[in-house]
This record gives sequence, C-alpha cells and structure tokens, in this order.
Amino acid sequence: MRLYCHEHPETLTLESEVADARPGAIALADSPFYPGGGGQPGDRGVIRWEGGEAAVTGFEYEGGRLWHLIEGNALAKGRALAAVDPDFRRLMRQLHTGTHILNALVFQAFDGALVTGVQMSGDGSARMDFDLPGADNEKLRALEAPINDAIRQDIALDFVYVPLADAEAQHGLIRSRSVAPPPTPDGLIRIVEIVGLDRQACGGTHLASTGASPPLRILKIDNKGRHNRRVRIALAGNAG
Ligand SMILES: [Zn+2]
Repeated sequence: MRLYCHEHPETLTLESEVADARPGAIALADSPFYPGGGGQPGDRGVIRWEGGEAAVTGFEYEGGRLWHLIEGNALAKGRALAAVDPDFRRLMRQLHTGTHILNALVFQAFDGALVTGVQMSGDGSARMDFDLPGADNEKLRALEAPINDAIRQDIALDFVYVPLADAEAQHGLIRSRSVAPPPTPDGLIRIVEIVGLDRQACGGTHLASTGASPPLRILKIDNKGRHNRRVRIALAGNAG
C-alpha cells in the first residue's frame, strides 16, 4: 500500500477531486490523510467543498477506495480541500518515532525481542507490548536515558521499499505481524530506518529526524502474563 502521506509527509492540505460521495462519507482522488493502522490512530481534520465542509471522524476501505467518514450527511461534489489537523499529525509523528526508538533499544538490549502489540493514544502516550519472558523491569526502565540520547542526537529517518520476501528473510525487519503494513500491489513493503539505530517494516507516519520530538518518559511497566511486558511511554508535556 502506498499512501500519499508517505510520499508527501509535509503536505497537510491538498485540493483534489471528489471521486465518490455518500451520506456520511467522501472518497477523494488524492488524500493527504493517514487513515490509521499498526496501532497509530488516523489523522484528524476537515474536508471543505463549495457549499459545505465536514470534520473527518474516521476512515474505511471499501470497493478499493479510501473513504473519509464525516460528521453529518452532506453530499460533497466537485473539487474539495482536505486539511489534516497539523498539531495532531505532529504529535503522532513524534510519538510514533518514539515507539521505534524504544523498540530498537529493546531489540538490542534484550536479544532481538519482538513486539506483540502497540497502541498509540491521541493524548500523546502509547503502550508497547514485548515478548520478554523473565525480563528485569528495571533494565527496561533504564532505557529512558538512551531513548532521549537518540532524540538529542537528531538522527535522520529514511524510507525505502523492499520486496516482501527479502524483508521476511531478515530477522527483526518485521517486528510484529500486527504492525507490518500490507505490501504494495507489486509486492513491496515499506521499510522505515532511523539511520544507524533501527530498521523495520512500518506503514505509519514518522518524523524526518528524531530531534523534532520532545523528550519521552517511560511511565510504567506492567507484566502481562509470563511472557509479555507492557511499557507505557508519553511525550513530555502531554497527558498519559
Ligand atoms: Zn513506524
């Protein structure tokens, strides 16, 4: 799957043709919205057209199209201006990049431990579950300092597409079945690299470099069964 927001991550407002409309939903020829997935909530924002506008409340794929679910039953037509909420997008890019940094450090410190689940929240916090039988929670908590070192170093991110079979052959490139994005129609999968720190398949939105994030805090570590550790993190200055 190739998304406009992957190719043009800084374009948050886009004029486009209304491709289809029904009460409560609009499909656009091109959309700057991230529709959500892999534990990351979809973008918020608004779509305006001549004679109307509506807040975007969610997304669904149907009939090979991305539908923007909207408030109310107005029927959009003609040209539309799609506008992503810039503050929410920035928050999710920061938080999502932070989950990669945590993930990379856990992978390194705990012998290639994999992710079993991730859920980001709109309040700037996230939880990540790792397959870590018998892990020392203090060793996990101690990752907060190296996470913030990685943010301070302002490391660039890079995005490439590789054949799915190649990605599957390399341990650790697909950290979690539930987080890996669907491949493109030509069998490619998107790889997100924090240069020199982390490389993994992912379909979300990320910063261009780590330094655009505020510091991250590790709020809490819970044991979820014998195997799983749940790590809660939050961006400094946000709830959680
Ligand atoms: Zn990601």
